Amino acid sequence: MFKAFLIKYAEIGVKGKNRYMFEDALVKQIRHTLKRCDGEYAVRKSDGRIYVDAVSDFDYDETVAALQKVFGIAGICPMVYVEDEGFEKLSERVVRYIDEVYPDKHKSFKVAARRARKNYPLNSMEINMELGGVILDAYPEMSVDVHKPDIMLHVEIRDKIYIYSEIIPGPGGMPVGTGGKAMLLLSGGIDSPVAGYMIAKRGVKIDAVYFHAPPYTSERAKQKVIDLAKKVAQYTGPIYLHIINFTDIQLYIYDKCPHDELTIIMRRYMMRIAEHIAKETECLGLITGESIGQVASQTMQSLMATNEVCTIPVYRPLIGFDKMEIVDISEKIDTYETSILPYEDCCTIFVAKHPVTKPNLKFIQKHEENLVEKIDELVKTALDTDEVVVVS
Ligand code: ATP
Ligand code: MG
Repeated sequence: MFKAFLIKYAEIGVKGKNRYMFEDALVKQIRHTLKRCDGEYAVRKSDGRIYVDAVSDFDYDETVAALQKVFGIAGICPMVYVEDEGFEKLSERVVRYIDEVYPDKHKSFKVAARRARKNYPLNSMEINMELGGVILDAYPEMSVDVHKPDIMLHVEIRDKIYIYSEIIPGPGGMPVGTGGKAMLLLSGGIDSPVAGYMIAKRGVKIDAVYFHAPPYTSERAKQKVIDLAKKVAQYTGPIYLHIINFTDIQLYIYDKCPHDELTIIMRRYMMRIAEHIAKETECLGLITGESIGQVASQTMQSLMATNEVCTIPVYRPLIGFDKMEIVDISEKIDTYETSILPYEDCCTIFVAKHPVTKPNLKFIQKHEENLVEKIDELVKTALDTDEVVVVS
């Protein structure tokens, strides 16, 4: 029965010029996301609102699911349009609407009319009263509650008459594209896809970098990361995924540095390379899935050692989260099942039995000097052979 949606967005902080930017970005993201759906839609901005009208056959559930992935949307209100053919026709339509949407009539309601077109013969108060009476006549089991109704029935008199009462929650956040771009270090694990999702939710566009180590990590491990990027891209739009061959760097570190410091030194090179690509691609920061204390490489001391090589901000949105909280989000955004596929990770292959948990920065810096002979060349080769996959 529904062929249109009113899109609600949180307006706090989006006033004046920012409001137009916000709305335009939201319209763009909605259009982009709906391309995945079967139907055709018109997305329009009108009266300070955003509407999505289906202009062909469409799948209601698919459409709602797609809209629920557009950051910036606070709520999705399925809506029906009625031509203005007099109050009696409107009353009939409202009675039918209630019947179709609420099979169980044991509910309280309130009519919230709004007369945007002032030549309508009744004013809002009169519409509320009249329609309220009509509904009570039709369904005596229902009752009016003006303070906390079960059903808030909106009736808006515009070019047509709009009727809606349901609000399906959206993901919230800000439309992607209103907040610059950042480079996500995307591994095949549970955490980094969630980290990317969280930063994108604040309106930030995402690119990603994955370090793989063939033949120690397989094509399947790489495909898994591409699949994860696809899941994240459902929310963020297309992701430029940089795939960096890290094998020779890892082997060189393995050869030249103490094994209990391998992970930290390796992570420092990942950050350096990610930052290099970030700067070349106009990213304003890096994003990782780190969380304090989760593993040896994520103690405060390890994070400090990793962070020391970065000159642009590193965003770690999961820093204070427990694993269970991260898992909950990964299930919600549907990355969990892919993340737990058991393919090898480039970090796990070279890890020491007993990695340092409190690395001493001076030692790390000193041991990195062991790499001076070849590391610049290896990093350059890794950057030169960057394979970029556009994931959408
Ligand atoms: P995740 O679940 O995201 O893999 P993790 O708990 O396994 O995280 P680490 O392996 O210590 O933690 O990695 C910490 C962060 O470093 C990851 O969240 C990710 O942002 C980044 N990272 C680790 N390995 C890679 C990789 N191979 N490619 C790109 N980024 C990586
Ligand atoms: Mg990992």
